[in-house]
Amino acid sequence: MSMLLEVNGVTVTFDGFRAINNLSINFAEGELRAIIGPNGAGKTTFMDIVTGKTKPDKGEVIWGERNISLLGMSESEIAKEGIGRKFQKPTVFEDQTVRQNLAMALKNPRGPFAVLTHKKTAANGARIEKIAEEIGLSDSLTRVAGELSHGQKQWLEIGMLLAQEPRLMLVDEPAAGMTAEEREKTTDILREAAKTRAVVVVEHDMEFVRRLDCKVTVLHEGAVLAEGRLEHVTADPTVIDVYLGR
Ligand code: ADP
Repeated sequence: MSMLLEVNGVTVTFDGFRAINNLSINFAEGELRAIIGPNGAGKTTFMDIVTGKTKPDKGEVIWGERNISLLGMSESEIAKEGIGRKFQKPTVFEDQTVRQNLAMALKNPRGPFAVLTHKKTAANGARIEKIAEEIGLSDSLTRVAGELSHGQKQWLEIGMLLAQEPRLMLVDEPAAGMTAEEREKTTDILREAAKTRAVVVVEHDMEFVRRLDCKVTVLHEGAVLAEGRLEHVTADPTVIDVYLGR
């Protein structure tokens, strides 16, 4: 099966320290994956490599049969290629409504600078409403984002990512700071999102990962330590050693 994204033998060194050490990891079209690992395992650096923020010293990042790490593409060029990223902290426009936030994030919006026909405005509106439904904010479209709960802001930002129509979205600790109920809903949103695109979730909360019910990759010292179902990797003695520091 051809892969959506292939990371092959990538190494990233900071002042002689290998934050990523000969890492190879692949993602299939439309898959849901959780990436876990102790602090310093290289999870953030991995996302930085894939999104073009950090250039590898060695190895390749293959996206659509092209080595994007070699092309000298900027972060925004890579984002336009279909790799989206959500950082841990929500960065919505607090003084704008949910609808306005989503409208700003739309890929190829029809307007405001393009000539707006009724048809095009309606098409934008329909896209926004569909996304609002996916993130459970249909009833909040006219609310100012600053008034939303922490969880709702996170969902809005996931919606803004969806509006960019990525083929792969990287989501950093979406459940951090959420209530149990919000976490559960976030699982549903991400599982639903993964039906039409690949979703990679970096997460500390094991209960959340369990609920995602997907393949898990454990990173340690910048490489893959274990991969498989959560119950499989958490039963792996090398994973237990790393987590319990034995
Ligand atoms: P994680 O997200 O899994 O906690 P990171 O990718 O942030 O791990 O970091 C991996 C390792 O690389 C850590 O030991 C961290 O201290 C180091 N590191 C990350 N970024 C830098 C940097 N810009 N300069 C030096 N060391 C860094």
